[in-house]
Amino acid sequence: MQIKIFDTTLRDGEQTPGVSLISDEKLRIASKLDVLGVDVIEAGFAITSPGEMDAIKKITSEGLSAEICSFSRPIINDIDVALNCDVDSINLVVPTSDLHLQYKLHKSREDILKQTKFALEYAKSHDLIVELSAEDSTRSDFEFLEYFFKEGIKYGADRICACDTVGILTPDKSYEFYGCLSKLDVPLSVHCHNDFGLATANSLMGLRAGASQVHGTINGIGERAGNASLEEVIVNLYSLYKYKLNIKMNLIYETSRLVSRLTNIQLPPNKSLVGENAFAHESGIHADGVIKNTETYEPITPELIGHHRRFVLGKHIGTNMLRKHINNMGLIVTEDQLQIIFNRTKSLADKGKCITDVEVHAIAEDVLGIMSDKVVDLKDVTIVSGNKVTPTASVKLEINGNEVVGAGIGLGPVDAAIIAIRKSIEDVADIELVEYHVDAITGGTDALIDVIVKVKCDENIVTARSTEPDIIMASVEAYISAVNRLLSNFK
Ligand code: MN
Repeated sequence: MQIKIFDTTLRDGEQTPGVSLISDEKLRIASKLDVLGVDVIEAGFAITSPGEMDAIKKITSEGLSAEICSFSRPIINDIDVALNCDVDSINLVVPTSDLHLQYKLHKSREDILKQTKFALEYAKSHDLIVELSAEDSTRSDFEFLEYFFKEGIKYGADRICACDTVGILTPDKSYEFYGCLSKLDVPLSVHCHNDFGLATANSLMGLRAGASQVHGTINGIGERAGNASLEEVIVNLYSLYKYKLNIKMNLIYETSRLVSRLTNIQLPPNKSLVGENAFAHESGIHADGVIKNTETYEPITPELIGHHRRFVLGKHIGTNMLRKHINNMGLIVTEDQLQIIFNRTKSLADKGKCITDVEVHAIAEDVLGIMSDKVVDLKDVTIVSGNKVTPTASVKLEINGNEVVGAGIGLGPVDAAIIAIRKSIEDVADIELVEYHVDAITGGTDALIDVIVKVKCDENIVTARSTEPDIIMASVEAYISAVNRLLSNFK
Protein backbone atom coordinates (compact mmCIF):
# COMPACT_ATOMS: atom_id res chain seq x y z
CA MET A 1 0.00 0.00 0.00
CA GLN A 2 1.21 3.50 -0.80
CA ILE A 3 1.67 5.51 2.40
CA LYS A 4 1.04 9.24 2.12
CA ILE A 5 3.06 11.77 4.06
CA PHE A 6 1.24 14.72 5.62
CA ASP A 7 3.73 17.27 6.88
CA THR A 8 2.65 19.61 9.65
CA THR A 9 6.03 21.22 10.40
CA LEU A 10 4.57 24.61 9.50
CA ARG A 11 1.47 24.21 11.70
CA ASP A 12 1.86 21.77 14.61
CA GLY A 13 5.64 22.19 14.38
CA GLU A 14 5.38 25.94 14.51
CA GLN A 15 3.40 25.60 17.74
CA THR A 16 6.69 24.64 19.39
CA PRO A 17 7.28 27.03 22.30
CA GLY A 18 9.53 29.83 21.11
CA VAL A 19 9.22 29.12 17.39
CA SER A 20 7.82 31.75 15.10
CA LEU A 21 8.60 31.76 11.41
CA ILE A 22 8.26 34.72 9.07
CA SER A 23 6.52 34.10 5.77
CA ASP A 24 9.69 33.85 3.69
CA GLU A 25 11.03 31.21 6.04
CA LYS A 26 7.78 29.28 5.82
CA LEU A 27 7.99 29.45 2.05
CA ARG A 28 11.56 28.14 2.07
CA ILE A 29 10.56 25.20 4.25
CA ALA A 30 7.46 24.47 2.14
CA SER A 31 9.52 24.51 -1.06
CA LYS A 32 12.05 22.14 0.48
CA LEU A 33 9.28 19.79 1.68
CA ASP A 34 7.84 19.82 -1.81
CA VAL A 35 11.14 18.79 -3.37
CA LEU A 36 11.53 16.17 -0.64
CA GLY A 37 8.25 14.76 -1.95
CA VAL A 38 5.70 14.98 0.86
CA ASP A 39 2.07 14.61 -0.27
CA VAL A 40 0.41 17.25 1.89
CA ILE A 41 1.88 20.40 3.43
CA GLU A 42 -0.18 21.87 6.25
CA ALA A 43 1.07 25.41 5.77
CA GLY A 44 -0.47 26.96 8.88
CA PHE A 45 -3.67 28.09 10.54
CA ALA A 46 -4.89 30.82 8.20
CA ILE A 47 -7.04 32.80 10.61
CA THR A 48 -4.26 33.19 13.22
CA SER A 49 -2.85 36.46 11.90
CA PRO A 50 -2.33 38.53 8.75
CA GLY A 51 1.28 37.28 8.72
CA GLU A 52 0.10 33.68 8.72
CA MET A 53 -2.33 34.40 5.87
CA ASP A 54 0.44 36.06 3.92
CA ALA A 55 2.70 33.02 4.43
CA ILE A 56 0.01 30.57 3.29
CA LYS A 57 -0.82 32.72 0.27
CA LYS A 58 2.86 32.84 -0.70
CA ILE A 59 3.01 29.05 -0.47
CA THR A 60 -0.17 28.44 -2.48
CA SER A 61 0.98 30.82 -5.22
CA GLU A 62 4.30 28.99 -5.58
CA GLY A 63 2.80 26.23 -7.74
CA LEU A 64 4.13 23.37 -5.64
CA SER A 65 3.13 19.79 -6.42
CA ALA A 66 2.08 18.97 -2.86
CA GLU A 67 -1.48 19.54 -1.65
CA ILE A 68 -1.46 22.73 0.43
CA CYS A 69 -3.65 22.61 3.51
CA SER A 70 -4.75 25.00 6.26
CA PHE A 71 -5.78 24.06 9.76
CA SER A 72 -9.36 25.13 10.48
CA ARG A 73 -11.88 24.91 13.29
CA PRO A 74 -15.50 24.04 12.38
CA ILE A 75 -16.20 27.76 12.08
CA ILE A 76 -17.31 29.42 8.83
CA ASN A 77 -14.94 32.34 9.26
CA ASP A 78 -11.95 29.99 9.58
CA ILE A 79 -12.94 28.25 6.37
CA ASP A 80 -13.49 31.57 4.56
CA VAL A 81 -10.03 32.78 5.46
CA ALA A 82 -8.52 29.47 4.34
CA LEU A 83 -10.42 29.80 1.04
CA ASN A 84 -9.05 33.29 0.73
CA CYS A 85 -5.54 31.85 0.89
CA ASP A 86 -6.38 29.56 -2.02
CA VAL A 87 -5.54 26.30 -0.24
CA ASP A 88 -6.39 22.92 -1.74
CA SER A 89 -7.63 21.47 1.50
CA ILE A 90 -8.43 22.10 5.14
CA ASN A 91 -7.53 20.04 8.15
CA LEU A 92 -10.85 20.44 9.98
CA VAL A 93 -9.99 19.81 13.60
CA VAL A 94 -12.78 19.05 16.07
CA PRO A 95 -12.31 17.90 19.68
CA THR A 96 -14.19 14.70 20.44
CA SER A 97 -13.24 13.83 24.02
CA ASP A 98 -15.70 14.79 26.76
CA LEU A 99 -12.78 16.39 28.55
CA HIS A 100 -12.17 18.82 25.68
CA LEU A 101 -15.86 19.34 24.96
CA GLN A 102 -16.75 20.12 28.57
CA TYR A 103 -13.75 22.12 29.71
CA LYS A 104 -12.46 23.71 26.54
CA LEU A 105 -15.57 24.33 24.47
CA HIS A 106 -18.46 24.00 26.96
CA LYS A 107 -20.36 22.12 24.30
CA SER A 108 -22.29 18.87 24.16
CA ARG A 109 -21.59 16.01 21.75
CA GLU A 110 -24.76 16.99 19.83
CA ASP A 111 -23.61 20.62 19.51
CA ILE A 112 -20.25 19.63 18.09
CA LEU A 113 -21.76 17.14 15.65
CA LYS A 114 -24.12 19.81 14.34
CA GLN A 115 -21.33 22.34 14.01
CA THR A 116 -19.09 19.83 12.21
CA LYS A 117 -21.77 18.88 9.69
CA PHE A 118 -22.43 22.53 8.93
CA ALA A 119 -18.72 23.24 8.44
CA LEU A 120 -18.29 20.16 6.25
CA GLU A 121 -21.20 21.13 4.00
CA TYR A 122 -19.84 24.64 3.71
CA ALA A 123 -16.28 23.51 2.91
CA LYS A 124 -17.42 20.90 0.39
CA SER A 125 -19.70 23.40 -1.35
CA HIS A 126 -16.53 25.46 -1.90
CA ASP A 127 -14.65 22.53 -3.41
CA LEU A 128 -12.18 22.07 -0.62
CA ILE A 129 -10.66 18.69 0.12
CA VAL A 130 -11.49 18.08 3.78
CA GLU A 131 -9.52 15.98 6.22
CA LEU A 132 -11.67 15.63 9.32
CA SER A 133 -9.50 15.37 12.42
CA ALA A 134 -10.76 14.30 15.82
CA GLU A 135 -8.71 16.05 18.47
CA ASP A 136 -7.92 14.05 21.62
CA SER A 137 -9.50 11.08 19.89
CA THR A 138 -7.52 8.58 21.96
CA ARG A 139 -9.27 9.81 25.12
CA SER A 140 -12.68 9.97 23.46
CA ASP A 141 -15.49 7.49 23.96
CA PHE A 142 -14.74 5.10 21.09
CA GLU A 143 -18.37 4.58 20.09
CA PHE A 144 -18.91 8.32 19.86
CA LEU A 145 -15.66 8.72 17.92
CA GLU A 146 -16.72 6.11 15.37
CA TYR A 147 -20.16 7.72 15.06
CA PHE A 148 -18.55 11.16 14.65
CA PHE A 149 -16.37 9.92 11.78
CA LYS A 150 -19.27 8.06 10.11
CA GLU A 151 -21.38 11.20 10.22
CA GLY A 152 -18.43 13.21 8.93
CA ILE A 153 -17.97 10.88 5.99
CA LYS A 154 -21.70 11.14 5.26
CA TYR A 155 -21.33 14.91 5.08
CA GLY A 156 -18.37 14.80 2.73
CA ALA A 157 -15.13 14.28 4.68
CA ASP A 158 -12.55 13.02 2.16
CA ARG A 159 -10.18 11.67 4.79
CA ILE A 160 -10.32 11.20 8.54
CA CYS A 161 -7.58 11.63 11.11
CA ALA A 162 -7.50 10.42 14.69
CA CYS A 163 -5.18 12.50 16.83
CA ASP A 164 -3.30 11.15 19.82
CA THR A 165 -3.17 14.70 21.11
CA VAL A 166 -1.36 14.05 24.38
CA GLY A 167 0.64 11.06 23.23
CA ILE A 168 -0.90 8.35 25.40
CA LEU A 169 -1.02 5.50 22.92
CA THR A 170 1.36 2.58 23.18
CA PRO A 171 2.38 0.68 20.04
CA ASP A 172 -0.02 -2.20 20.72
CA LYS A 173 -2.93 0.12 21.58
CA SER A 174 -2.15 2.12 18.46
CA TYR A 175 -2.37 -1.00 16.31
CA GLU A 176 -5.78 -1.85 17.74
CA PHE A 177 -7.14 1.72 17.69
CA TYR A 178 -6.15 2.62 14.13
CA GLY A 179 -6.97 -0.90 12.99
CA CYS A 180 -10.63 -0.41 14.03
CA LEU A 181 -10.88 3.02 12.42
CA SER A 182 -9.27 1.89 9.17
CA LYS A 183 -12.42 -0.12 8.44
CA LEU A 184 -14.33 3.11 7.71
CA ASP A 185 -14.83 4.09 4.08
CA VAL A 186 -12.22 6.84 3.61
CA PRO A 187 -8.43 7.04 4.00
CA LEU A 188 -7.30 7.26 7.63
CA SER A 189 -4.45 9.39 9.00
CA VAL A 190 -2.31 8.75 12.03
CA HIS A 191 -1.39 11.81 14.13
CA CYS A 192 0.82 11.04 17.12
CA HIS A 193 2.51 13.17 19.75
CA ASN A 194 5.71 12.26 21.50
CA ASP A 195 4.97 12.87 25.18
CA PHE A 196 6.19 9.38 26.10
CA GLY A 197 8.74 9.09 23.31
CA LEU A 198 6.51 6.68 21.38
CA ALA A 199 5.27 8.87 18.53
CA THR A 200 7.34 7.19 15.83
CA ALA A 201 6.53 3.67 17.07
CA ASN A 202 2.83 4.49 17.45
CA SER A 203 2.67 6.01 13.97
CA LEU A 204 4.28 2.94 12.43
CA MET A 205 1.86 0.62 14.21
CA GLY A 206 -1.10 2.73 13.08
CA LEU A 207 0.10 2.41 9.51
CA ARG A 208 0.72 -1.32 9.89
CA ALA A 209 -2.87 -1.64 11.14
CA GLY A 210 -4.31 -0.07 7.99
CA ALA A 211 -4.01 3.72 8.17
CA SER A 212 -2.74 5.10 4.88
CA GLN A 213 -1.43 8.53 5.77
CA VAL A 214 0.87 9.73 8.51
CA HIS A 215 1.15 13.19 10.06
CA GLY A 216 4.45 14.40 11.39
CA THR A 217 6.97 17.19 11.57
CA ILE A 218 10.58 17.43 10.48
CA ASN A 219 12.85 16.86 13.50
CA GLY A 220 9.74 15.98 15.52
CA ILE A 221 9.20 19.59 16.55
CA GLY A 222 5.84 20.55 18.02
CA GLU A 223 4.08 21.46 21.23
CA ARG A 224 5.54 20.01 24.43
CA ALA A 225 7.59 16.94 23.47
CA GLY A 226 6.62 17.38 19.84
CA ASN A 227 5.04 15.32 17.08
CA ALA A 228 6.10 12.14 15.35
CA SER A 229 9.40 12.86 13.67
CA LEU A 230 8.79 12.57 9.94
CA GLU A 231 12.35 11.67 9.04
CA GLU A 232 12.22 8.81 11.53
CA VAL A 233 8.86 7.56 10.27
CA ILE A 234 9.95 7.82 6.64
CA VAL A 235 13.29 6.06 7.07
CA ASN A 236 11.67 3.35 9.19
CA LEU A 237 9.06 2.73 6.52
CA TYR A 238 11.70 2.68 3.80
CA SER A 239 14.56 0.82 5.46
CA LEU A 240 12.95 -1.46 8.01
CA TYR A 241 9.50 -2.09 6.54
CA LYS A 242 10.56 -1.84 2.86
CA TYR A 243 7.68 0.36 1.75
CA LYS A 244 7.97 2.25 -1.51
CA LEU A 245 7.66 5.99 -0.92
CA ASN A 246 7.63 9.01 -3.19
CA ILE A 247 10.28 10.62 -1.01
CA LYS A 248 13.71 11.71 -2.19
CA MET A 249 15.55 9.98 0.63
CA ASN A 250 18.84 11.79 0.04
CA LEU A 251 17.21 15.13 0.89
CA ILE A 252 16.19 14.12 4.40
CA TYR A 253 19.30 15.41 6.18
CA GLU A 254 19.36 18.78 4.44
CA THR A 255 15.63 19.26 5.08
CA SER A 256 16.27 18.56 8.76
CA ARG A 257 19.16 21.06 8.80
CA LEU A 258 17.04 23.75 7.16
CA VAL A 259 14.21 23.32 9.67
CA SER A 260 16.67 23.31 12.56
CA ARG A 261 18.33 26.48 11.31
CA LEU A 262 15.16 28.44 10.60
CA THR A 263 13.38 27.42 13.81
CA ASN A 264 16.55 27.83 15.91
CA ILE A 265 15.96 24.42 17.44
CA GLN A 266 19.25 22.61 17.75
CA LEU A 267 19.06 18.85 17.55
CA PRO A 268 20.64 16.73 20.24
CA PRO A 269 23.78 15.14 18.73
CA ASN A 270 22.38 11.66 19.31
CA LYS A 271 19.06 12.33 17.50
CA SER A 272 18.18 9.29 15.40
CA LEU A 273 19.30 9.54 11.77
CA VAL A 274 19.80 13.30 11.54
CA GLY A 275 21.82 14.06 14.72
CA GLU A 276 25.45 15.03 14.24
CA ASN A 277 26.58 11.80 15.87
CA ALA A 278 24.13 9.56 14.03
CA PHE A 279 26.98 8.30 11.84
CA ALA A 280 29.98 9.30 13.97
CA HIS A 281 32.37 6.63 15.15
CA GLU A 282 34.65 7.08 18.08
CA SER A 283 35.51 3.82 19.78
CA GLY A 284 38.49 1.95 18.35
CA ILE A 285 36.76 -1.32 17.59
CA HIS A 286 33.79 0.37 15.96
CA ALA A 287 35.83 2.79 13.89
CA ASP A 288 38.14 0.00 12.79
CA GLY A 289 35.14 -2.10 11.77
CA VAL A 290 33.58 0.74 9.80
CA ILE A 291 36.83 1.39 7.94
CA LYS A 292 36.85 -2.26 6.85
CA ASN A 293 33.15 -2.48 6.06
CA THR A 294 30.68 0.28 6.93
CA GLU A 295 27.89 -2.24 7.52
CA THR A 296 29.62 -3.51 10.66
CA TYR A 297 28.37 -0.56 12.70
CA GLU A 298 25.97 1.30 10.42
CA PRO A 299 22.40 0.10 9.81
CA ILE A 300 22.12 2.27 6.69
CA THR A 301 24.69 4.35 4.89
CA PRO A 302 24.62 8.05 5.80
CA GLU A 303 24.55 8.84 2.07
CA LEU A 304 21.09 7.26 1.82
CA ILE A 305 19.66 10.26 3.66
CA GLY A 306 22.29 12.78 2.58
CA HIS A 307 24.14 12.70 5.92
CA HIS A 308 27.87 12.09 6.38
CA ARG A 309 30.09 9.70 8.27
CA ARG A 310 32.48 11.13 10.85
CA PHE A 311 35.34 9.72 12.85
CA VAL A 312 35.97 11.35 16.22
CA LEU A 313 39.37 11.01 17.78
CA GLY A 314 38.36 10.30 21.33
CA LYS A 315 39.70 8.20 24.13
CA HIS A 316 38.41 5.07 22.44
CA ILE A 317 40.57 5.58 19.39
CA GLY A 318 42.41 2.47 18.24
CA THR A 319 45.79 2.28 16.54
CA ASN A 320 44.36 1.63 13.08
CA MET A 321 42.25 4.73 13.24
CA LEU A 322 45.12 6.77 14.58
CA ARG A 323 47.38 5.64 11.76
CA LYS A 324 44.72 6.58 9.22
CA HIS A 325 44.48 10.08 10.68
CA ILE A 326 48.23 10.53 10.83
CA ASN A 327 48.56 9.40 7.24
CA ASN A 328 45.85 11.84 6.26
CA MET A 329 48.02 14.59 7.74
CA GLY A 330 50.72 13.62 5.28
CA LEU A 331 52.92 11.96 7.91
CA ILE A 332 54.30 8.45 7.76
CA VAL A 333 55.11 6.67 11.01
CA THR A 334 56.68 3.33 11.91
CA GLU A 335 54.94 0.81 14.20
CA ASP A 336 57.09 1.92 17.16
CA GLN A 337 56.39 5.59 16.53
CA LEU A 338 52.70 4.85 16.16
CA GLN A 339 52.70 3.08 19.52
CA ILE A 340 54.33 6.06 21.25
CA ILE A 341 51.88 8.50 19.64
CA PHE A 342 49.05 6.17 20.61
CA ASN A 343 50.12 6.04 24.27
CA ARG A 344 50.53 9.79 24.50
CA THR A 345 47.15 10.42 22.86
CA LYS A 346 45.47 8.00 25.26
CA SER A 347 47.03 9.58 28.32
CA LEU A 348 45.87 13.04 27.20
CA ALA A 349 42.36 11.68 26.67
CA ASP A 350 42.42 10.05 30.10
CA LYS A 351 43.06 13.47 31.60
CA GLY A 352 39.75 14.51 30.11
CA LYS A 353 41.08 16.40 27.12
CA CYS A 354 38.99 16.15 23.99
CA ILE A 355 41.30 14.85 21.29
CA THR A 356 41.00 16.35 17.86
CA ASP A 357 43.34 15.93 14.95
CA VAL A 358 45.24 19.08 16.04
CA GLU A 359 46.48 17.40 19.22
CA VAL A 360 47.34 14.24 17.35
CA HIS A 361 49.24 16.24 14.77
CA ALA A 362 51.25 18.04 17.45
CA ILE A 363 52.09 14.77 19.20
CA ALA A 364 52.95 13.05 15.93
CA GLU A 365 55.28 15.84 14.91
CA ASP A 366 56.93 15.77 18.26
CA VAL A 367 57.47 12.02 18.10
CA LEU A 368 58.78 12.25 14.57
CA GLY A 369 61.15 14.99 15.62
CA ILE A 370 59.69 17.34 13.08
CA MET A 371 59.31 20.84 14.31
CA SER A 372 56.16 22.23 12.82
CA ASP A 373 57.22 24.69 10.14
CA LYS A 374 55.51 27.82 11.26
CA VAL A 375 54.96 29.48 7.93
CA VAL A 376 52.86 32.20 9.53
CA ASP A 377 53.63 33.66 12.94
CA LEU A 378 51.43 36.25 14.62
CA LYS A 379 53.39 39.19 16.03
CA ASP A 380 50.71 41.77 16.83
CA VAL A 381 46.99 42.11 16.51
CA THR A 382 44.92 45.18 17.39
CA ILE A 383 41.16 45.30 17.20
CA VAL A 384 38.86 48.29 17.43
CA SER A 385 35.18 47.66 17.97
CA GLY A 386 32.21 49.44 19.47
CA ASN A 387 28.75 50.78 18.72
CA LYS A 388 29.97 53.77 16.69
CA VAL A 389 32.95 52.34 14.81
CA THR A 390 33.29 49.84 12.03
CA PRO A 391 35.01 46.80 13.53
CA THR A 392 38.62 47.11 12.33
CA ALA A 393 41.65 44.90 12.82
CA SER A 394 45.31 45.42 12.04
CA VAL A 395 47.81 42.58 12.16
CA LYS A 396 51.54 42.18 11.94
CA LEU A 397 52.59 38.71 10.76
CA GLU A 398 55.87 37.05 10.00
CA ILE A 399 55.44 34.99 6.87
CA ASN A 400 58.43 32.84 5.92
CA GLY A 401 60.59 35.24 7.89
CA ASN A 402 59.27 38.42 6.25
CA GLU A 403 57.22 40.95 8.16
CA VAL A 404 53.83 41.68 6.64
CA VAL A 405 51.34 44.23 7.93
CA GLY A 406 47.68 44.17 7.01
CA ALA A 407 44.28 45.49 8.02
CA GLY A 408 40.67 44.54 7.56
CA ILE A 409 37.19 45.62 8.42
CA GLY A 410 34.39 43.19 9.16
CA LEU A 411 30.88 42.77 10.49
CA GLY A 412 32.30 42.16 13.95
CA PRO A 413 35.74 42.07 15.59
CA VAL A 414 36.34 38.37 14.87
CA ASP A 415 35.35 38.83 11.25
CA ALA A 416 37.65 41.86 10.95
CA ALA A 417 40.61 39.98 12.43
CA ILE A 418 40.17 36.97 10.16
CA ILE A 419 39.80 39.23 7.11
CA ALA A 420 42.99 41.13 8.06
CA ILE A 421 44.95 37.88 8.35
CA ARG A 422 43.49 36.43 5.19
CA LYS A 423 44.43 39.55 3.24
CA SER A 424 47.95 39.59 4.68
CA ILE A 425 48.66 36.02 3.58
CA GLU A 426 46.94 36.12 0.22
CA ASP A 427 50.29 36.22 -1.58
CA VAL A 428 51.15 32.87 -0.01
CA ALA A 429 47.78 31.15 -0.33
CA ASP A 430 44.11 31.93 -0.66
CA ILE A 431 42.67 30.35 2.43
CA GLU A 432 38.96 30.21 2.89
CA LEU A 433 37.27 29.80 6.26
CA VAL A 434 34.58 27.20 5.70
CA GLU A 435 33.40 26.53 9.23
CA TYR A 436 33.60 28.35 12.54
CA HIS A 437 32.25 27.07 15.84
CA VAL A 438 32.35 28.80 19.20
CA ASP A 439 31.60 27.20 22.54
CA ALA A 440 31.76 28.70 25.98
CA ILE A 441 33.18 25.88 28.04
CA THR A 442 32.06 27.17 31.42
CA GLY A 443 29.33 29.64 32.30
CA GLY A 444 29.92 33.32 32.92
CA THR A 445 31.62 36.07 30.94
CA ASP A 446 35.02 34.80 32.11
CA ALA A 447 34.34 31.45 30.48
CA LEU A 448 36.98 29.72 28.44
CA ILE A 449 36.09 30.06 24.79
CA ASP A 450 36.69 27.11 22.56
CA VAL A 451 36.92 27.92 18.87
CA ILE A 452 37.10 25.31 16.14
CA VAL A 453 37.77 26.42 12.59
CA LYS A 454 37.86 24.54 9.36
CA VAL A 455 39.84 26.14 6.53
CA LYS A 456 40.17 25.22 2.90
CA CYS A 457 42.81 25.85 0.28
CA ASP A 458 42.29 24.23 -3.13
CA GLU A 459 40.92 20.79 -2.28
CA ASN A 460 42.65 20.50 1.11
CA ILE A 461 40.69 21.01 4.29
CA VAL A 462 42.04 21.06 7.82
CA THR A 463 40.52 21.89 11.18
CA ALA A 464 42.20 23.47 14.17
CA ARG A 465 41.10 24.64 17.55
CA SER A 466 42.14 27.08 20.22
CA THR A 467 40.92 27.63 23.74
CA GLU A 468 41.35 31.05 25.31
CA PRO A 469 39.40 33.31 27.62
CA ASP A 470 39.37 35.93 24.83
CA ILE A 471 37.04 35.06 21.96
CA ILE A 472 38.99 37.13 19.45
CA MET A 473 42.36 35.65 20.38
CA ALA A 474 40.91 32.13 20.38
CA SER A 475 39.55 32.74 16.88
CA VAL A 476 42.78 34.29 15.58
CA GLU A 477 44.95 31.53 17.02
CA ALA A 478 42.72 28.74 15.77
CA TYR A 479 42.73 30.29 12.31
CA ILE A 480 46.52 30.78 12.22
CA SER A 481 47.08 27.28 13.51
CA ALA A 482 44.83 25.90 10.75
CA VAL A 483 46.65 28.02 8.15
CA ASN A 484 50.01 26.69 9.33
CA ARG A 485 48.79 23.13 9.20
CA LEU A 486 47.48 23.64 5.72
CA LEU A 487 50.63 25.36 4.46
CA SER A 488 53.12 22.99 6.09
CA ASN A 489 51.27 19.85 5.06
CA PHE A 490 50.09 20.62 1.60
CA LYS A 491 52.30 23.31 0.13
MN1 MN B 1 -1.15 17.83 17.02
